[in-house]
Amino acid sequence: MKGCFCKVSKRKNLYLFYKRTIEMEELIQPLKEIAEQNEFTLVTDVEKANIIASIGGDNAFLQATRKTNFNEDCLYVGVNTDSMGFYTDFSMENIEQMVLAMKNEEVEVRRYPLLKVTVDNEMPFYCLNECSIRSNVIKTFVIDVMIDDFHFETFRGDGMIVSTPTGSTAYNLSVNGAVVDPALPSIQVSEIASLNNNEYRTLGTSFLLSPERKLTLNVVQDGNDHPIIGVDNEALSIRHAKEINLSLAEKQIKVLKLKNNSYWQKVQKKFL
Ligand code: NAP
Ligand code: MN
Repeated sequence: MKGCFCKVSKRKNLYLFYKRTIEMEELIQPLKEIAEQNEFTLVTDVEKANIIASIGGDNAFLQATRKTNFNEDCLYVGVNTDSMGFYTDFSMENIEQMVLAMKNEEVEVRRYPLLKVTVDNEMPFYCLNECSIRSNVIKTFVIDVMIDDFHFETFRGDGMIVSTPTGSTAYNLSVNGAVVDPALPSIQVSEIASLNNNEYRTLGTSFLLSPERKLTLNVVQDGNDHPIIGVDNEALSIRHAKEINLSLAEKQIKVLKLKNNSYWQKVQKKFL
C-alpha cells in the first residue's frame, strides 16, 4: 500500500482519454505538444499504452479506468480541467509542471483497491467508487444482507451503497458514511433510507468489512421489484437481479499522484 517512487521515465506510451469534442481537442493540443517534446509517444490504440491519462474531472477518471478494464499493467493519471478532484492530482492549467513532475519523478504511485461485483453468477464487474443498488420505482424493496454465509439483517428501503475507500468521499458520504483512508483496503456498506419498524430492522449505520469478507445481497423478489444496479457512474442493464456478491477485488489499479498531496490533504481541501 505504501507509495513507491515511480520510474515514469520508463513508461513512454501515453494514451489520452477525454470526451472527443472540438473544445476538448483544442484544450488538449498543448498537452500533446509538451508530451511529445518530452519524449512521450502518444498512442491512439489503448492496447499499446502504458500510461493512460484522463482529462476532465473524477467522472472522466472513472470512465477512463472502466473503459480500459482497470488495467493493472498501466499507470493511470488524472488531469482535471477545472477544480481539483480525488483522482485528479494534475491540472490542465499547469501541464508543464505535470510533465516535469513526471520526468523528474516528483510523483509516486498509489494502488487503489477495487470492488468486485458479481450479479447472479455472471461475469464480474469492477468498481473504483462504489456499487449501488436502488429501487427505481416509488416503492421500497427488500434485501437479505449476508456477511460471508451468515444472515446479518433484512433491509427494506431505497437501497444500499457498497463503496471502496476512494469511493467513500462520493455517494457514500452523502448518506453519512465514513471517509476511509485508501491505505486501508476495505469495503463500506451504507444504507439509503432504510425503513425501520418491528418487522424490518437494520443496523442503521455504515459498517466496514475486511478484505477477507464476502458480502451477499439477496434481493427478495416478488416480481414487482426492479432495483437498478450502478457501478460507479454507469448503470448495469440487468433486470430482476437476485443475488449480488461483493468483495474486494484481487487486483488494484496504479494511480500517479503528486508527492506532497496526500489523501487527507485532498479531503481537507475539498471539504474543510
Ligand atoms: P455526477 O452526479 O455528475 O457527480 C457526482 C459528483 O461526485 C461530482 O462532483 C464528481 O466529481 C464527484 N465525485 C466522483 N467521484 C468522487 C469521489 N471518489 N470522491 C468525491 N467526489 C467524487 O456523477 P459522476 O461525475 O459521473 O460521478 C459518479 C459518482 O457520483 C458515483 O460514483 C457516485 O459516487 C456519485 N453519486 C453521488 C450521489 C449523491 O451524492 N447523492 C448520487 C449518485 C451518484 P467531478 O465533478 O470531478 O466528476
Ligand atoms: Mn460529473
